[in-house]
Amino acid sequence: MYVRSRESKRGVYWDCEEPRNKECAARAITAVPRLNQDIIVFKGPEESPHDHPPNREASDAEVFRERIKRKTAEHPEQPPAQLLQTEIASVPDGV
Ligand SMILES: [Zn+2]
Repeated sequence: MYVRSRESKRGVYWDCEEPRNKECAARAITAVPRLNQDIIVFKGPEESPHDHPPNREASDAEVFRERIKRKTAEHPEQPPAQLLQTEIASVPDGV
């Protein structure tokens, strides 16, 4: 994902939106978008790849949510709060 960084006559510059990864130098340049015209990409992820997996933290959270949902379905006798406790304890550090 990119966030619009600046705009010039030549095009629009987009920087990586990864806020915690200042090392990531991925940047895209597109033509200034015009109505009824496809955006022309001068430079994209192919030329300027991210040096981290895309939105890793977001997908981890997604997996975690799914797991809680499944556990709740598998163990209806256990209160969700208790399941949450067990799941959080099983998550490795740094996630
Ligand atoms: Zn990036």
